[in-house]
Amino acid sequence: QTKIEDDITIAQQAKMKRITDIAASIGLSVDDIEPYGHYKAKINGTVLNRLRTKPDGKLILVTAINPTPAGEGKSTVTVGLGQALNRLGHKTIVALREPSLGPTMGIKGGAAGGGYSQVLPMEDINLHFTGDLHAITTANNALAAMIDNHIHQGNELGIDSRRVIWKRVVDLNDRALRKVIIGLGGPLQGVPREDGFDITVASEIMAILCLSEDIDALKARLAQIVIGYTYTKKPVTVADLKAQGALTLLLKEAIKPNLVQTLENTPALIHGGPFANIAHGCNSLAATKLSLKLADYTVTEAGFGADLGAEKFLNIKARIGQLDPSAVVIVATIRALKMHGGVPKDQLKQENVDALLNGLKNLEKHAQTIQGFGLPFVIAVNRFVTDTDAEIKVLMDWCEKQGFPVALTEVWAKGGAGGEDLANTLLPLIEAKTLLNTKLTHTYELEQTIEEKLHAIATKVYGASHVELSSKAQKQIAEFKKNGWEHLPICMAKTQYSLSDDPTKLGRPQEFSITIREFKPSIGAGFIVALTGDVMTMPGLPKIPSALAMDVDAEGKAVGLF
Ligand code: ADP
Repeated sequence: QTKIEDDITIAQQAKMKRITDIAASIGLSVDDIEPYGHYKAKINGTVLNRLRTKPDGKLILVTAINPTPAGEGKSTVTVGLGQALNRLGHKTIVALREPSLGPTMGIKGGAAGGGYSQVLPMEDINLHFTGDLHAITTANNALAAMIDNHIHQGNELGIDSRRVIWKRVVDLNDRALRKVIIGLGGPLQGVPREDGFDITVASEIMAILCLSEDIDALKARLAQIVIGYTYTKKPVTVADLKAQGALTLLLKEAIKPNLVQTLENTPALIHGGPFANIAHGCNSLAATKLSLKLADYTVTEAGFGADLGAEKFLNIKARIGQLDPSAVVIVATIRALKMHGGVPKDQLKQENVDALLNGLKNLEKHAQTIQGFGLPFVIAVNRFVTDTDAEIKVLMDWCEKQGFPVALTEVWAKGGAGGEDLANTLLPLIEAKTLLNTKLTHTYELEQTIEEKLHAIATKVYGASHVELSSKAQKQIAEFKKNGWEHLPICMAKTQYSLSDDPTKLGRPQEFSITIREFKPSIGAGFIVALTGDVMTMPGLPKIPSALAMDVDAEGKAVGLF
């Protein structure tokens, strides 16, 4: 195999089309878009309204096994598959999440794909893009400021400052901000209280933006956010503070999906980006719905493994948006399977067929999970240059023996051409599902109790034996019942590395319990967040963050993004 340049070099050498041409290729006129420079645009809300009655195209959901810290190539395969379908003559759009600066500057890097399957302009997308994350951060913090101002100015609502649950956010990994004290310095500086920061992508406002199809829905959801409780323990909402108008105003551009292109000029909608380990993990419903109207095929991605992103895509987003994916792609890499088979992270490049065989049980569980949702799937083996022929053969043979459709996928090295096998394996499955008209099966029903829903997710999706609730979590369930929140879906916050809530338990752990430490009501978003293990809603930086390799030259050309 020839040497492949690094992601940013490939991206910088690419020949992009003007965004007006990309828009025209999906039937959008210059009036339908608002260009942000030559290569990015926002799509006006009027477009979705105009296309309401047009039948939807097919939706393909890309998920994965439990990843290594570097990621297993879901974004790369999503982009590559979109390019492949277009090469085969199918009008296709890819719908991705917006990267957060936390992982970009931390360890994982950006989220614009890789190799010859990337979205462009990669530098902009990974840095400030069209300002959506800024708008979400500002709306979140405007609400925080209004809460503390309300308390300072006489506290008419009787907000108990010890029971404010609305945190401030910043779009960086900054562990020093997890717990802070605000309002120090005397009566003129506000009322002192304990507070904390989350990363922006964990903000309920990010989730709300991603689940609201239009401005009216956005405002209605924002109004319902519960920011804390009164001295008599009654929930206080954004509507009580009369803040929904201002928050919606701050988000009026951010709610519009962003149009860009891939290296092969396939249109891409990149919009919204909640993490899948601490939030619901999918791009915006507005972008997905729009894409289904504009293209015959939409390829979208849900974060991390099928235990996190796909579970929440199918049980939360698909339920709210009445989506039913036509097929699922499960991305697997030989390096991650070897890790699940016991190989230390620094030895994943060496051939090890035994470890690979031993790690396949992780893939098996995710495949069974997707079967449990009643959806057809293809396993995409995302090929790395370090994979040996013997390893690839073992993996492909195993899939065939299990009766799992599989395709060797080389979109990183070859772009769309390397994804044609995957596309050709998927298309007949999509056709079959359409003919049979089978429907997605959810893991739980909304009418079930919180405990029943948690049990269903833990046993069916994680393979756990039972759920344990901390005493705090038990008390919260009782309060949530009183507040009438029992019939909301559950948004699990869990480590991405393991099927369990313990990141060190790799492979397919057996006989384990899932511990729910506490819940966070996200009433505006319309779900209850269940925090498991010691998962953090504000990550920290690693010892050697990616930021140390970043630079920019005198002409403004970026270095060190990936
Ligand atoms: P995910 O979406 O699953 O987190 P990404 O698609 O973002 O993963 O890929 C993670 C990183 O791995 C990116 O930097 C990407 O360039 C790189 N990568 C993905 N696939 C390959 C491959 N087949 N060979 C080498 N590097 C790859």
